[in-house]
Amino acid sequence: MAKRDYYDVLGVKKSASPDELKSAYRKLAVKYHPDKNPGDSKAEEKFKEASEAYGILSDKEKRQNYDNFGHAAFENGGGRPGGGFGGFSGADFSDIFEDFFGDFGGGGRSRNRRSNNRGSDLRYDLSISLEEAYHGKKQDIKFATTEQCGTCKGNGSEPGYSPDRCSYCGGNGRIRSNQGFFTVQQTCPQCNGNGEEITNPCNDCNGQGKKQASKKISVTIPKGVDDGTRIRLAGKGEAGSRGGATGDLYLFINVHSHELFKRSDENLFFEFPLSLADAALGTTIEIPTIDGGRAKIKIPDGTQNGKQFRLKGKGMPFMRRGDFGDLYVQVKTEVPVYLNKKQKELLEQFREIENDKSNPSIKKFFQKAKDFWKN
Ligand SMILES: [Zn+2]
Ligand SMILES: [Zn+2]
Repeated sequence: MAKRDYYDVLGVKKSASPDELKSAYRKLAVKYHPDKNPGDSKAEEKFKEASEAYGILSDKEKRQNYDNFGHAAFENGGGRPGGGFGGFSGADFSDIFEDFFGDFGGGGRSRNRRSNNRGSDLRYDLSISLEEAYHGKKQDIKFATTEQCGTCKGNGSEPGYSPDRCSYCGGNGRIRSNQGFFTVQQTCPQCNGNGEEITNPCNDCNGQGKKQASKKISVTIPKGVDDGTRIRLAGKGEAGSRGGATGDLYLFINVHSHELFKRSDENLFFEFPLSLADAALGTTIEIPTIDGGRAKIKIPDGTQNGKQFRLKGKGMPFMRRGDFGDLYVQVKTEVPVYLNKKQKELLEQFREIENDKSNPSIKKFFQKAKDFWKN
């Protein structure tokens, strides 16, 4: 099979800057990384292909050669993979991988001791009403998690013993391995990167340093949370193993839809059914507000269907700010459906009078219709 063009492989233009190359490679590498696609040989091929392309194009001199001579520039070594890459073979990509996959190991920050011991993050879904979102609230939540083992204080060894150096990685926490064309450093699978091996595991937690637990905590829902708001409670997730950092707890807020109010960000919308007579003659209406109170709105005579009235500051609070959105009240004029005899008579009278076409828009309409028929 013919070798694909390196620029095509990375999906960039020939004029791509080093940053563009890096970002294109990063995307592909994250997508096709063998750790994320175990057993998928196609993904592995793609990963190697992209890595090879990046290996060449990220090197100024090699890129120049490739631009001038294409793949031929590197073909002197024959068909052996990696043989002809002009020194590319065995290139240490660990810097790139440190950059790109720094988080794969579970968030350890140290360069030399990247450990998988950090506790998992947890998700807790919490449903609240719109009123609760308005006022904010404190609530106790209960969830299953893991806690540090009290017997070994989280280090995983029987009291009186301490862990040995990991025999697999020699205490390094990382091992080097060959992945086709180059060498990558990976977190040691034996010790998960912390370089230690438990030789006398704690009886209480089997050397894990943590135990299943049910936890109850009090959380504060801030005023103004919206549906889909995510609140991070740092360090409230699962305990890390063997002294690793505790994970975080994420509260996912679901705000129920409301019978009366519709919400759009900090603004609320309210539909008020207005009788034909009230719309025509004007009136004052009273409406409920989300804070549990009520507000009056003066409806002027001749109010049309769909007219909106804005009540400033009667909407939802802005999160972590002191001010509020607005409440928009839209009137919906209703044509009466069931009329009694008296109402019918009055409306008939009204029609007779109204037919003098004193209403300017009706007058205009009839003039237009007349003109139309004439033609
Ligand atoms: Zn223990
Ligand atoms: Zn190890």
